[in-house]
Amino acid sequence: MDAAGFSRFTKIVATLGGASSSPEMLEQLTSAGVNVFRLNFSHGTQEEQGARIRAIRDLEARTGKPTCILADLQGPKHRVGVVAEGTILEVGQTLRFDQSPDEGNADRVGLPHPEIFAALQPGARILVDDGRLVMRVTRIAGDSFDTIVEVGGALSSRKGVNLPDLVLDSPPLTDKDHADLAYALDAGVDWVALSFVQRASDILDAKAVIGDRAALMAKIEKPAALAELSDIVAAADGIMVARGDLGVELPPEDVPGWQKKIVAECRLVGKPVVVATQMLESMITSPTPTRAEASDVAAAVFDGADAVMLSAETAVGGFPVEAVTMMSRIITAAEAHIQAHPESAPPKLPTEPSLYHSVALASVALADSVQASVIVAFSTSGNTAVRIARERPRIPFLVLTPFHDVRRRLAILWGAETAPSTISEDFEAAIAEGIGEIRDREIASAGSHIVIVAGMPFGIAGTTNSIRVATI
Ligand code: PGA
Ligand code: MN
Repeated sequence: MDAAGFSRFTKIVATLGGASSSPEMLEQLTSAGVNVFRLNFSHGTQEEQGARIRAIRDLEARTGKPTCILADLQGPKHRVGVVAEGTILEVGQTLRFDQSPDEGNADRVGLPHPEIFAALQPGARILVDDGRLVMRVTRIAGDSFDTIVEVGGALSSRKGVNLPDLVLDSPPLTDKDHADLAYALDAGVDWVALSFVQRASDILDAKAVIGDRAALMAKIEKPAALAELSDIVAAADGIMVARGDLGVELPPEDVPGWQKKIVAECRLVGKPVVVATQMLESMITSPTPTRAEASDVAAAVFDGADAVMLSAETAVGGFPVEAVTMMSRIITAAEAHIQAHPESAPPKLPTEPSLYHSVALASVALADSVQASVIVAFSTSGNTAVRIARERPRIPFLVLTPFHDVRRRLAILWGAETAPSTISEDFEAAIAEGIGEIRDREIASAGSHIVIVAGMPFGIAGTTNSIRVATI
């Protein structure tokens, strides 16, 4: 793709933090190719996140280009209590967990989460500090339980706990999440991500709070969620393959296969899917990535992910702009490879018996056979855009919508470039508007075909039923 405004199909999500929140940095990150800014509510105060949101919207006001903000809630993250300095756990020793706030040691440690005690099973694994320490439950006694240490090492205060074998009876949103969510929605974020989703009902509960004020992304980072994957994908608006925690709760060698499966499941129903975590990890401290990291980003593109994500690389790393630039270059090269070697493209999907789907599919096929240079879709709700993206066309597509918030949300969607539409009723006038937009952007050369998709009557969500071929 070389047309103006369309640099690549796969989108980039960048996490903001201390290294990346100044107005100058936001501008540089945007120019380097960020499509979506992620605010990680596990770190920082609401005031810090609020300042970032204001800075992003200021940038949007200056550039006129819609910016998409994803508020990532911490979710039910568990941690051990305070532990004495120098505590070392030996393999084979017994370690007791209880709910006492007293300073822990190599004999006992506090775990201030009653819901864990309620869900315990003998033989369940307790992973601490990103899985560096592994304990297995041997004896359960109401207000305490014993474990045998299978992988030992240093244990320090407030380290995170992962419980891959348990389904906890915890609400999907903690008190902190509720407060952060209210704050983020008031500030007008576009997407909300829910951490440690266990079941589809978690999504429905969160949707009851969020309504249509933001789109909802489910982070897949628990084995329990994998068991309910299709229901979760159906309930959410988008999915994140959260490989950090997923790779702690699952053996690391199982994560690549699940990444493929989750991406395929999302593509099947046309929900945007983000591949996340450690993509360019070494660029936290180095201006260039490892070859394996370059290969990992490209693999997500070949799988057909909508977006790839940077975490610490842009939040706290020494080379945030370099990381985005590098990610963009890797994506562009992988997509060029797909254009030259179509057999490397993600597999074609089965068709679906819906009008939306059939029209989108037909428009992509038509664009292919008339060798159109661009597809223009009029989409009120963004649904037609999602359906076209699902077909992964080989040419750019431009989405015209009257709603600015729809443009922002679509920033995460594979291939979607958007423009404002002012026409509300007349199909012929809309076609003229679409052609005008294409001319302004110098996307298509004179004499080339464009394919226009819209609904009649015009401007009503859910009516996509018409395709027109126009010549520039
Ligand atoms: P986190 O989620 O960065 O909020 O932990 C992503 C992941 O676990 O991969
Ligand atoms: Mn996580």
